Amino acid sequence: MNPTAILKPKADVLIRGGYPRILRANVSQIKGEVTAGDIVDVVDSRGDFIGRGAANPHARVFVRMLTYNPDESIDDAFFYNRLIHAQRLRARYAREMSYRAVFSESDGLPGLIVDRYEDYLICQINAAGIEVRREAIFSMLQEIYKPRGIFEKSRGMARKSERLERRIEAVSGECPPLIPFQMHGLKLLNDVIEGQKTGFFLDQRDNREAVRRYVMAGNRVLDGFSYTGAFSLVAAQAGAQVTAFDISEQALAIAQQAAVNNSLQARCTFQQANAFAMMRELEENQVQFDMVILDPPAFAKHKGVLPKAIRAYRTLNRRAMKLLPDGGILVSCSCTQLVSEEAFLDLLRNAARDVRRQIRFLEIRGQPFDHPVLVTLPETRYLKCVIAQVIA
Ligand code: SAH
Repeated sequence: MNPTAILKPKADVLIRGGYPRILRANVSQIKGEVTAGDIVDVVDSRGDFIGRGAANPHARVFVRMLTYNPDESIDDAFFYNRLIHAQRLRARYAREMSYRAVFSESDGLPGLIVDRYEDYLICQINAAGIEVRREAIFSMLQEIYKPRGIFEKSRGMARKSERLERRIEAVSGECPPLIPFQMHGLKLLNDVIEGQKTGFFLDQRDNREAVRRYVMAGNRVLDGFSYTGAFSLVAAQAGAQVTAFDISEQALAIAQQAAVNNSLQARCTFQQANAFAMMRELEENQVQFDMVILDPPAFAKHKGVLPKAIRAYRTLNRRAMKLLPDGGILVSCSCTQLVSEEAFLDLLRNAARDVRRQIRFLEIRGQPFDHPVLVTLPETRYLKCVIAQVIA
């Protein structure tokens, strides 16, 4: 018998509706002893079974749901099955060998992220339910993907809130510090250890391909937050002359190396700079671009700073619009989950009004299929990428 968490009446509807995170604040009573990672049955306030999941008594999210089937037990076979389902989706639809192989709740594996870069897997564990089963899960990943190396990069806010220690280490096989991989017809590099997240932004893959269509040979392109240069290199490959900024020297060094590896160095200038300040300077010098790409880091991690984040996006986009002539293309992204698509489009409209320009949205884009959006967990929808044309 698993321990049981009994919901407060006010949480019944939400959890019955399929919201897969049970906050401690939504639980009225816990029957039985629960340690981190234990499987717990969740029942509504009347005692009727809803589902079961993995618990963490130290976290704000007490239970992360795993199944709604009362007959399904949560054992190794369960996790193996979920991993296989995740793998099948990618095997069927992925066009390249690098993708997000497991996206947490969206693949029924809350707290587990696995990014595949060809022969290597980079894993991130964000919940106790996975943490206590990590050895077993790693050997399943080894069996399913047969990678040359598995690396764990578990750190960050999500982990802190689960009271888990950070862990950055090779799990098995070899793991070169710079993983070379092919994407967009380019030879790219993933700086796993020093880089952000799992080292590369796989979630922008389809958006980069979309952007490529708007780049004409000889265009001047500004990439404001280039990181390791993926958007820049795609634009350069399409024949553009690219000016790219980032505040991270480390990221720019990788970008530069990748440019050289693709013989695109003559078409790219990577410069360490604050994009906010540089765009103002460029405007003062009346420099214009045919396209400006903005893919900044998340500006708001919690609701308290949301208004400030929206102002920052608006300022940024306003400055970008000033660098675009009539007909210029603005590629504006936001990975801030708290900024809804509606709010994002709204701030773009406002930024355009600020500078007395008109914009029209050519494409309103999001995440690729390997970052599926779970309809019962709106938090899984986070990426916005708008391709807009600025007029007059
Ligand atoms: N477009 C990139 C990902 C960008 S991630 C890609 O496709 O791979 C966001 C980047 O913004 C990070 O590399 C971070 O170092 C950089 N950054 C954060 N604040 C910045 C600022 N004020 N000016 C320029 N770059 C900044």
